[in-house]
Amino acid sequence: MPGPWARYANWLHLRWPAGHVEPRPRVRADGGTAVPGLYLAGDHLSRPLLGDALDSGARTAARIAADPTLRAGSAAPGLLDLVIVGGGVSGFAAALEARRAGLAYELVEADEPFSTPANYPAHRAILPPASADRPAGSLQVTAATREALVAELRAQAVRAGVVARIARAERVERAGDHLLVVLAAGPPLPARRVIVAIGRSGCFRRLDIPGEDLDHVFDRLHDPEAHAGGRALVVGGGERAAEAAIALAEAGAEVTLVHRGGVLTRPRFRTLALLSERLAGAPTRPWRRRVNRADIPRRAPGPGTVALRFATRLIEVRPGAAVLQQADGTIETVPADAVFVMIGRQRPGDFLLRSGVPLRDRPGRWQRVGLALLVLPAAALCDWRSGGPLGAWWRARDWFPYAVPSWLASAGGALARSAADPRTLVGTLAVSAAAPAFWCALAATLLVAVCGALRVRRRPVPYVIAQTLTLAGVQALFLFLLPEVILPWLGHNGRLPRGLLDAFFPMSTHGHGREYWRAYGLVLAWPLQAANVLTPAPLWAWLAIAMTQTAVLVPLAVHRFGTGAYCSWVCPRGALAETVGDTRRGMMPHGWRWNRLDLAGQVLLGAALALLALRIAGWIRPGPDGADALFARLWGPWRWITDVLLAGALGYGLLFRASGRVWCRFLCPLGAFQHVLARGSRFRILAEKPRCIQCGTCTAVCHLGVDVMGFARHGRAVEDPECVRCGACVHDCPTGALAFGRLAPRGGPVTLDALPTSPVRMRAGG
Ligand SMILES: Cc1cc2nc3c(=O)[nH]c(=O)nc-3n(C[C@H](O)[C@H](O)[C@H](O)COP(=O)(O)OP(=O)(O)OC[C@H]3O[C@@H](n4cnc5c(N)ncnc54)[C@H](O)[C@@H]3O)c2cc1C
Repeated sequence: MPGPWARYANWLHLRWPAGHVEPRPRVRADGGTAVPGLYLAGDHLSRPLLGDALDSGARTAARIAADPTLRAGSAAPGLLDLVIVGGGVSGFAAALEARRAGLAYELVEADEPFSTPANYPAHRAILPPASADRPAGSLQVTAATREALVAELRAQAVRAGVVARIARAERVERAGDHLLVVLAAGPPLPARRVIVAIGRSGCFRRLDIPGEDLDHVFDRLHDPEAHAGGRALVVGGGERAAEAAIALAEAGAEVTLVHRGGVLTRPRFRTLALLSERLAGAPTRPWRRRVNRADIPRRAPGPGTVALRFATRLIEVRPGAAVLQQADGTIETVPADAVFVMIGRQRPGDFLLRSGVPLRDRPGRWQRVGLALLVLPAAALCDWRSGGPLGAWWRARDWFPYAVPSWLASAGGALARSAADPRTLVGTLAVSAAAPAFWCALAATLLVAVCGALRVRRRPVPYVIAQTLTLAGVQALFLFLLPEVILPWLGHNGRLPRGLLDAFFPMSTHGHGREYWRAYGLVLAWPLQAANVLTPAPLWAWLAIAMTQTAVLVPLAVHRFGTGAYCSWVCPRGALAETVGDTRRGMMPHGWRWNRLDLAGQVLLGAALALLALRIAGWIRPGPDGADALFARLWGPWRWITDVLLAGALGYGLLFRASGRVWCRFLCPLGAFQHVLARGSRFRILAEKPRCIQCGTCTAVCHLGVDVMGFARHGRAVEDPECVRCGACVHDCPTGALAFGRLAPRGGPVTLDALPTSPVRMRAGG
């Protein structure tokens, strides 16, 4: 990317956290999967909370034990009743239940028992259970801190006589009428039933070196500030290792990054650039691309810096020290108060896929083909609506809806008489209903109403209720009743002043005889309703409205309430995305590469501005050879490309493949304009770091691709301008760590939104 554009892209879209979302499996409410006999428990089945994990583990094992068909079929030697993969809280809860029920079982853990709680930040306060109900089973948690929690869990496991076998499971396979749990080392375990309780973090790779189990060795970084002023050693050459090194250095630790290779190839460019700002010691060349050497500061080693050690391995960890071995065999002991082994992990999604469990939000090959085919009908529908080539062909045949007036006339009687008189309501409807736009508006209104009601049932909190009612009301009144029924009916009955009609709805040769469709522009601000602005001669009334909307109202609303004030409370696209697309949120792709595509909207915004300039030039100097003619040549293709191809085929067509916000996130020029405005907005999603358990739920439900967790885990307010304040992340956060609010102008106290969105906070009275 050229310099200024790269800086602009970074300022607007590329500087934000861009984590990926862990795919979720398709699982039934009882934990059953598409693989007969294979059940899921813990974080893959329930809310990512200790209490829920305990509950689901114990219940799943109890259900299996109570199944009368459990021991039906062959009884091969060594065949177990149950193998539990994952020795976390849900795995142990299942094991305790299996033992109590007298099942022949085995519990397999890749790392250490209860490794997730054991890796919480030191002295972390444990959040109280989200519900008052006691989890099923005998394993329970009551502790208030990490240390006490791990101690009480281990003590209960010991008392119950449940021991985990330390081994990594690779996959689960079917073998005749039973299942095989394939281990990384050793013979597979045959079992009648398998519970997979591997959590969401997956299983982190280990170095298998002496001292790796010491208390100051971690496989994830939760709290960089906890290591401020200390010496930290990070092992790894990937993005996670580089990011951890930067975060630790930024928090004030003196960091050594150890990598067995000779060059850092995997971190992204921006991460390498940040790393370069922290580099200590002699200049090295860690980059896979050229970086101006003069830009690399060479600081003296100390707090806040990162020293790079290439071609080096960590071979032992001791209390307060780490032993390194260089490629030439030289051994060196360096001080290390904390050691982070970040050499990758086996993602839970990969394990599940290998075991034949399909993932949600990831369609299979045939589904992909089927979904791709949806793009074509969406394009056809939009072309039909906007009178493109297909629409013109259809119209020439006088099929539905153009034939509606003649159908009504042939009905005879009072109905035919009313339909023939546009001053009656039936007559007005008959004229409107002869155009595809009427039916599309009616369908959108009904869809928003029905799917909106379902959304409210799923998320019955004041914010979602108010938002859904507003969206449905705006859709029904301004985007259906007013342009299609009320205004034409008033016009036909002479109830609207002539001056107002001439100013807003010029005469036309078809339909109602006036262009009442322009009333869609009361809600659709420029550049969305460009047809009201880019007219052959200026329509001053609409120009005034469009400019007031885009230059005054939208900026004011964005400044105070963020991008979502328009996109999630007014816009008809937003209405469909938030209601029809409510259950498809998880399909929006995340990550840095996709964030680069966010810039497509900026390109479209530039094109819309260029077209506006051309239109104005055409008004000033009309004529067949000037800007007027050029504009006329461009206007048709522009409308077809934006309305049919981008907004229609991609925007609607991909709703079931990539969520309802494809158009809004990547392409909408009004959205792109608001992203720029939002950089000056005081609206934020505020995050309480102590409550964030890094479960990724917030990021997963963001259908604008915002990595909410990337902000929340550091307690940072979410300032990615893509956020349309739909409320899904705040609502779904299992610990109530998120809230909508506004920053004070000069760093004063933040103001939280008055409308509650988080059920957890509502229960807690906050
Ligand atoms: C930082 C943090 C703080 C949290 N704080 C709280 C809190 O305060 N209150 C609360 O209620 N919840 C909290 N949670 C959430 C809670 O820890 C989880 O909901 C819970 O641990 C989930 O239990 P689980 O058994 O499903 O998975 P996990 O506890 O993650 O256990 C999964 C186990 O499976 C093992 N495993 C993975 N892959 C394999 C494999 N292939 N073979 C064998 N074993 C494998 C892993 O090593 C791991 O031990 C927090 C989570 C985090 C990350």
